[in-house]
Amino acid sequence: MSHDADDYDESEMFHCPHCSGFGHVECHCGGDLCVCENYGEATCHVCGGEGEVTTERYDRYEENQRRNYAAMAAILGKALDE
Ligand SMILES: [Zn+2]
Ligand SMILES: [Zn+2]
Repeated sequence: MSHDADDYDESEMFHCPHCSGFGHVECHCGGDLCVCENYGEATCHVCGGEGEVTTERYDRYEENQRRNYAAMAAILGKALDE
């Protein structure tokens, strides 16, 4: 059986791209009128409050962003065509 090799964990961590590593983001209701009981701060749903994400999670976030952007661009492009 292998020994040392298994100690190597290649799950590198990145600063969360959503909350910039803070672990929390501003909630959508924004403090004063907060209805989500987070009082202006919501736990980041991307990193779950860790402030760090795995390479895999990061890649997926980036891909989502890209897809959203592409979808938005397509909609805008269509709107401009009309
Ligand atoms: Zn709120
Ligand atoms: Zn985060």
